[in-house]
Amino acid sequence: MIVKMSRRATLDEIAAVEERLHGWGYKTGKMVGEEITLIGVYGDITRLPTGELQEMGGVDGLIPISKAYKRVAQKGAPGNLLHSAVRIGNVEVGGEELTVVAGPCSVESEAQIMESARLVKAAGANALRGGVVKYRSSPYSGWEGIGANSEEALRNGLQLIVKAGREFDLPTVVEVLDANDVSIYEDLGVDCIQVGEPNSKNQALLNRLRETSLPVIHKRGNSLDIEAYLLWVERIMAGGKENVILCERGIVSPNKYTRNTLDLGGIAAFHYQLSCLPIAVDASHGTGLRDLVHPLTLAGIMAGASMVLVETHPNPLIAKSDGFQGLFPQQFDHLVNACQQVWALRRSIEPLYTPSAAWEQEYEIRMPSDKKRFFGAS
Ligand code: PEP
Ligand code: MN
Repeated sequence: MIVKMSRRATLDEIAAVEERLHGWGYKTGKMVGEEITLIGVYGDITRLPTGELQEMGGVDGLIPISKAYKRVAQKGAPGNLLHSAVRIGNVEVGGEELTVVAGPCSVESEAQIMESARLVKAAGANALRGGVVKYRSSPYSGWEGIGANSEEALRNGLQLIVKAGREFDLPTVVEVLDANDVSIYEDLGVDCIQVGEPNSKNQALLNRLRETSLPVIHKRGNSLDIEAYLLWVERIMAGGKENVILCERGIVSPNKYTRNTLDLGGIAAFHYQLSCLPIAVDASHGTGLRDLVHPLTLAGIMAGASMVLVETHPNPLIAKSDGFQGLFPQQFDHLVNACQQVWALRRSIEPLYTPSAAWEQEYEIRMPSDKKRFFGAS
């Protein structure tokens, strides 16, 4: 981090900033220009009280020189990236195998979630999803999830999906809406907590999730740019929690044909450039169109996802939420098959990906002679 002092900053103000930084335990280095002084700050800047610093007399602004998200950030060297693996129940995400998490948008009845679990297992998927309380964009939609109306209803709904998961040996992934409910999910045996898109910036919920030992899938808010999203994910990990999974589920764009616009470039950036965490692609919410879930899920795997989230229902035509994007069971079967083939392909061609860092030096050395070769003597 660099503190840029204003042109009018006095020597006393500059000294006061340095003194404050030393008091917080940071080392500093100063660059005194003709008009402006810059103060470099060395140490763990995630702990830096930036607000207080910015308010000090003579400070013009703070210039970050390294990423504000440390735990989410990429680890390893270019060409030898280290990616972390996360366990959901007995399933490893981000390891050798692709993870397929699937199920209905919402748990609607015992029979429906049981049948969903049976179909998800039969197709070869690895975990069962299903919301028990749902965000609805309209207060008149009439359905906010089987667990929406009371704590007892929430408990009953969670018990249904946990029972279905256990019956078919599938760990469960369930969205939590409220920080105060997290312990109920833990107590009832849910295996993984999903933070939904509307809660992507819910500070109280994300702070609470620091305390849970359960893995967390954090879905990217649809208007969060990549850096802002990763900083919200960092919030869950700030105290040392490690088992967090990113999820790209579509962002807002001028495109109105699909429900959202799946940011495939974002997935590639997370995987190849920015983060060590496993990434899920959710093309169900990313497209909102049943017939586009298949191709976009496969594209997400090729872009860098190691988990897919897919909505499927025993009969999506009678689903109480998101039926228009839920796959028919046969479509889901085919998708799992295709996902496995694409995963195998991606794994086999992974060595062909070489980051520019491997070549840059060679081409830098060649710049003067190549300039002469192509553009003549300068
Ligand atoms: C869901 O997973 O059912 C859901 C509502 O997702 P999102 O929060 O991404 O819209
Ligand atoms: Mn849904």
